Amino acid sequence: MKTLLLLINLLILPFPVLGADLLLKNATLIDGTGTSAKSIENLLIRDGRIVGVDVKEPGQDIEIIDLKDAWIIPGLIDAHVHLSGFEGDRREMPGKLERALRGGITGLRDMAGDTRVLKDTVSDLHLGLYPGPTLTYAGLMGGPTMFDDPRVLEASIGYAPGEAPGLRAIDQETDAGKAMADLKTTGASAAKLYGNLDRDTVLRLGKAAHKAGVRIWAHPATFPARPMDLIEAGADVLSHSAYFIWQAVPDMPTDYNARRHGPYGDYSPDDNRYQQVIERMAAGNVLLDATLTIHYDHAVEANEPLEGVTDNAFTWATAFTRRAHKAGVKIVAGTDALFPSEKQDPEGDDLPNLHRELEILVNYAGLTPMEALVAGTRNSAEAAGLLQDHGTIEPGKVADLVVLNTDPVRDITATRDIRMVIRAGKIIPQK
Ligand SMILES: [Zn+2]
Repeated sequence: MKTLLLLINLLILPFPVLGADLLLKNATLIDGTGTSAKSIENLLIRDGRIVGVDVKEPGQDIEIIDLKDAWIIPGLIDAHVHLSGFEGDRREMPGKLERALRGGITGLRDMAGDTRVLKDTVSDLHLGLYPGPTLTYAGLMGGPTMFDDPRVLEASIGYAPGEAPGLRAIDQETDAGKAMADLKTTGASAAKLYGNLDRDTVLRLGKAAHKAGVRIWAHPATFPARPMDLIEAGADVLSHSAYFIWQAVPDMPTDYNARRHGPYGDYSPDDNRYQQVIERMAAGNVLLDATLTIHYDHAVEANEPLEGVTDNAFTWATAFTRRAHKAGVKIVAGTDALFPSEKQDPEGDDLPNLHRELEILVNYAGLTPMEALVAGTRNSAEAAGLLQDHGTIEPGKVADLVVLNTDPVRDITATRDIRMVIRAGKIIPQK
């Protein structure tokens, strides 16, 4: 009977190699929903999914692990990475994804690259060829004038610039419905609206996307479209807090290369126009993928202040994020780069950037450690379109967990103190 069940599992489940049933005993559970941490006697995992906590009769044939008062959090999800796009990325994928997994990352939202590589990666992960996080990704759409960007060209080798279904040039003539149908063939779950797109075009794309069941993950300014235009277009998630500056800037540039050069000293995040954007986001459940790490690294590199007056991208972005969070906008944790460079990571603990994003959200943007954990688990799952099966520790969900030696509610840096990562019920060996 057991062999037969295993055979059926092999045929129907996306994770062909199932771990034994697993009972984790004696821990403090942080379930990712934002409710307080609580002591549990046990947590039962069966067939890769969570059965429940404090199960009275867990049954026979179970691997039991006494965690001796460790902390359990949901697997972390980095909601903004770029895994592909350059030659060699395909070969590096297994090592990269396994390293991310060991570092506590069980889910990823890729924000544009070579969709051929990403589609194959999802397939390899489903086949269990190597362990890695769950992955969703976007295809990119932008105005024809941005298709000389070398990053875009490299990620669409073999296509004429702007004609790859996952890296598509859009102009007034483009059939938006057809563009979305083409996008879906790449396996992408969203269109990333990126650069050189005006208000009319983003509205048209938004309408076609939602009709086709495609999400809109966008930059808040696509030059000349501004944050409010993207919100009206039905954006589900907006990335990079610093780019919201463009809502109030008159004479909006039409070239996306202006995006990093906002006049930060000239516009306070308290300006009513930003408050209106925030209110619309909160009311319409538009998620904010703040990406503070990338703004932080730019500030450090340029020797700019990290606190005080909001006259650089980082200080402006943290002030905007703080206000959005207070107003009830869901904050999402994304980094724009899965791993830090050596210079950005003097500790050299080999861990993914997401740990830094959580720390920056707490240290600079006013989130409590618990709120940062929700950002990096539940909210990131929602942004990635993964919330139904991931992001929180609740009965029925995929058992993606990280076991920590110390209390992350007291100190968010505890997410680095990893004892064990469990992906779909399987323990991932630490090096
Ligand atoms: Zn990005």
